[in-house]
Amino acid sequence: MIDFERRQKFSGFYTELRCAYCHEAADFTRIKNSDPIAVICNVCGLHRVYPRISLAGQLEMIARKERYGPDDVLRTAQMRRSTPEKASYYLPALTTISKHLPSVFLGGKVLDVGTWDGGFVGILNNLGAKAIGLEQVSELAEFGQKAGLDIRVGRFDENTMSNNFDRNSFDLICFFESIEYMQDWQEVFLVVRNYLVPGGGLYIKSHSAKSSLYMWEKDYEFRKNFHGGVPTRRSYLYMMEREGFDVCESRFWPERFFLSGMVQKHFGTFIARVVSRVLSPMISILVNLFDRGDRVFVCAKLKLQTVSDL
Ligand SMILES: [Zn+2]
Repeated sequence: MIDFERRQKFSGFYTELRCAYCHEAADFTRIKNSDPIAVICNVCGLHRVYPRISLAGQLEMIARKERYGPDDVLRTAQMRRSTPEKASYYLPALTTISKHLPSVFLGGKVLDVGTWDGGFVGILNNLGAKAIGLEQVSELAEFGQKAGLDIRVGRFDENTMSNNFDRNSFDLICFFESIEYMQDWQEVFLVVRNYLVPGGGLYIKSHSAKSSLYMWEKDYEFRKNFHGGVPTRRSYLYMMEREGFDVCESRFWPERFFLSGMVQKHFGTFIARVVSRVLSPMISILVNLFDRGDRVFVCAKLKLQTVSDL
């Protein structure tokens, strides 16, 4: 498996013992004992490989184009051709945001963190928002910039943010499958609080560590090798409470369950297509019901008095 080989190659960078959110290094429960060891933090519920990759390791992988290299750039170029498909992909997020933060679509200022090619930024702008993207891989940011979108290059940290924006300037900050990569989630929420307006919104969509796919395939190499941590729905609720946010909505993403890759491996392409079209929507409803959905989201609002004020 290519991700396993990649991890071997960068093994010197798998040195971080601490949980990405609560920074606890030793209070965990093992969920997989063979390489890579995977653990659940007993304090906040975040899952991680142990030890996990360090920031230096993430940066080195990107610098050597082992992550976000030519293959990802090519894939992004191909995906950009299917914009209507992308709009429907974001529909559940748009529905949630319009329900809880309707002013976003009346000229509200939005930051999409880890925006990739800026697809979500373009869609938000088409619907009346003033969205800006942040992407640390410049080759990916260029796709959005060439399409006329405002995409800044950098990691989501205080340094990048203060160089680009004034404090308290966003009505909504989004992490669309990007928070998993963050090294220090407490720092992330602090920066979010600094750059949101009072009462501003936070929307996060990510993998769920309790996904049935993890349970079945144990594919930690693929899914957690580059990650700081992988949350569960419950760990989001814990973090939002501690970080001064009121949760408006949190549940599993209502998309088709990603079975096709797994089924293809065992039963071939044709069967995979049938399963993907016919069975996946039904399985999706079922696993979501049992807290085992593959992707989870949380939409929250910053309390007027936050932990930093206390
Ligand atoms: Zn923790």
